[in-house]
Amino acid sequence: MYFISTRGGEKVTGAQAIAQGLAKDGGLFVPENFPLVTNEELEGMAGMSYPERASFILGKYLGEEFGQDFLNTSCEKAYSNFEGEDPIPLVKVDGETGLYVLELFHGPTCAFKDIALQLLPYLLKKSLELTGEKKDVLILAATSGDTGKAALEGFRDVPGTKVAVFYPDEGVAKMQRLQMCIQDGKNVCVAGVKGNFDDCQRAVKALFAEETFQAELEKRNVLLTSANSINFGRLAPQIAYYFSAYVDLVTSNQIEIGDNVDFVVPTGNFGDILAGWYAKKMGLPVRKLICASNRNRVLTEFFKKGVYDVKRPLMRSMSPSMDILVSSNLERLIFEVSGRNAELTANRMEQLKKEKTYSITPKERNLLEKDFYAGFASEDDTVDAMYEIFEEYGYAMDTHTGVGLSVYMQYYNEREKNDPKDRTPVIVLSTANPYKFPQDVLYALSGNDVKDSFKGIKRLNLLTAMKPPKCLLALRYRPLRFKTVVSNDIGKMSDLILRFVDGEVVPIPDES
Ligand SMILES: *Cc1c(COP(=O)(O)O)cnc(C)c1O
Repeated sequence: MYFISTRGGEKVTGAQAIAQGLAKDGGLFVPENFPLVTNEELEGMAGMSYPERASFILGKYLGEEFGQDFLNTSCEKAYSNFEGEDPIPLVKVDGETGLYVLELFHGPTCAFKDIALQLLPYLLKKSLELTGEKKDVLILAATSGDTGKAALEGFRDVPGTKVAVFYPDEGVAKMQRLQMCIQDGKNVCVAGVKGNFDDCQRAVKALFAEETFQAELEKRNVLLTSANSINFGRLAPQIAYYFSAYVDLVTSNQIEIGDNVDFVVPTGNFGDILAGWYAKKMGLPVRKLICASNRNRVLTEFFKKGVYDVKRPLMRSMSPSMDILVSSNLERLIFEVSGRNAELTANRMEQLKKEKTYSITPKERNLLEKDFYAGFASEDDTVDAMYEIFEEYGYAMDTHTGVGLSVYMQYYNEREKNDPKDRTPVIVLSTANPYKFPQDVLYALSGNDVKDSFKGIKRLNLLTAMKPPKCLLALRYRPLRFKTVVSNDIGKMSDLILRFVDGEVVPIPDES
């Protein structure tokens, strides 16, 4: 299968799309068409393990090029690092109303980013092989908290690769920072950047376009690539869990093949929910995708009014991984809803850059309304939803999932008003382990404030009787390896990266 750029300038193979990350015209790669999954195939998936299901879905896009055997063994290896018998369990919260939670956080870094980033190293290495690329790869990432750690863990000590991660000094949760700053591995580098996530992301994006920096990397025979969700190699593994959750409902006799389900997705960069929409395009019976935002509600307004408007300050929230104004992956949806009009998509993205806003036509908005419902949760709404679900069902969730649950409640109330008999199952995607944000979760569930994250873990454990993950407990006694915070200046950042690429002693000394 071939992949085309949303801005029209390029057509490449799957391997090229993954190795390159972004198209040369600045667009995002999308599949030339959406391969279908038949009802017979869905039935066949019932008897498969999660890695087999993932490999089957990936095969629809990359099978011919990468080989099904390669995909099978890669998925097997990637998901063997997950805790528990089922790497991605579906939990029934309320059978009466049909509320389910899909727990995507059982990977090594306790957030859903692991599902793609444990697999991406295999896909990337194979892509480089297939495209004949001989250079070493530098994976550069800006992170709002979870992508950074997942990329570091996924690529740690992978031969031929180096990973550099920048996080916003003022943006990530304590646990997230700790997870990154104690990172092991000979090929990793982590640094804070002064400012918020938007500042950090802007600086990293600027580095991708910086000519002297590119030339320096070229001299060193290093290829620069991205581990952010603009890469199709990150999107594809996420499509699989929508299918898997559906098949789980079938095998547990909650639905029959062909019945509809809804998904609620806590959304930031629009990667996760776009994967769900791709699943729908591939034939999965999804009725609505519910786009849940925190108080940075750009996407809610977009779906309601058809206007994307980022002229506002980015606010910090309890769900820092969703503190984003410019959701990169929305470009893929805009491209589809315009009837794959690349010129129009390019113009809209240009307008967003220049005027910080663009709009779609009423006809396009109506098309989107068929597939999406959108809502947002304030900080108080989020806390209330987390508390309510814990009180009623004893189920504890993290703050990002709390945003999802709050928007689910809005959706549920509307649905009850419109059709009280409607019992279509709703699956809420749970994107992080509650222990990753122990102080906020403890506060939401009990009203108690504690000063220290590890005290938070202990108290949360007493309250919920849920087992804290070993990888978070172990952080307590680990010395910090990376303490550098650089100013938000691409000169400083590129110096740091080049010193790291040159193999200068890691850790790099603090110079803030
Ligand atoms: C990244 C992230 C999200 C948002 O996912 P997108 O694909 O960026 O929409 C939500 N929750 C958590 C915990 C995350 O790490």
